[in-house]
Parts: sequence; C-alpha cells; structure tokens
Amino acid sequence: MPQPRVIDEFSYLAVSHQRKTQLRYKRDGKCQTCGEPRVTKTHCLKHALAVRRRARKNTGVTRHNKSLTDYITLGIVDEFTHLPIYEFEKTQLRHLRDGKCRFCDDPLVTKRCCLKHAKAQREYARKRNGCKRRNKNARSYRAAQQLKEAA
Ligand SMILES: [Zn+2]
Ligand SMILES: [Zn+2]
Repeated sequence: MPQPRVIDEFSYLAVSHQRKTQLRYKRDGKCQTCGEPRVTKTHCLKHALAVRRRARKNTGVTRHNKSLTDYITLGIVDEFTHLPIYEFEKTQLRHLRDGKCRFCDDPLVTKRCCLKHAKAQREYARKRNGCKRRNKNARSYRAAQQLKEAA
C-alpha cells in the first residue's frame, strides 16, 4: 500500500523524501528524528541526548555549557523550560517561584533577593542615584537590623 501523498509547502522541494519529513517535523514542533514532541529546538529528549553524546565524542569535549539538555538530565523540565528566554532568566524565574534569591540559592529576604544580594543591589542603586540618605524602611535594612539584634 503506497502512503497517501502529503501535499504541502515542502512537497515540490528538490530535496529527499527524508529531508521533507524532517522539515515537516520541524514545522510541527516535532523531533527531527522520530516525530515525538520536541524539548530542544530540533529534538525530543531521547534524541537530544543522543546527539549531544555523539557531538561530545566527536569533539572530545569534556567540559560543556549548561544547555537545555543539561537541565533535562538534571530533571529540571518545568513551565519555564520552553520559554524563548535565556537560561539565566529561567533560573531567576525558578528561584522566584521557589522563594529563592535571584542570584543564589539562599532564601528570600526582600521580594527578589537574599540578604546579601539585597544589600548589594541597594548599594548599587544608591550609588547610581547618588543617594546619601539610608532608607530605614527598606525591607533589607530592617531584616539586617533584626539579624543583628538576634545575634
Ligand atoms: Zn526523537
Ligand atoms: Zn543571593
């Protein structure tokens, strides 16, 4: 039984049948190799890892960038994984969701940062604004005072 002919924008391209299938998978958000849902730009989880393993072997690279596949290997696939933003922005979003500092894994003291980073941010903002007066109502300042009193 011959397969029914698919007529679409790729049908008349002068490329192999295999290549057309790849292009269709690509268009439909599927893995280029097997047609499963994608987790990277071109591949499903299984094939993304396979491609990466092969690439590593070929180039002999032992150290590598933290890419999406690393996060998948680590089991971090969540609502942010597929967003078209940088990995560091995703990490920040995850930290915010989990009540962690944007810059490190410490718990939040202000809305976005741990004590250390809140202070750093405030110093930076003060320098930028040329502000000399300390805002004693700042949450980070109050938190620092409380810690001092507790110590
Ligand atoms: Zn696949
Ligand atoms: Zn921090």
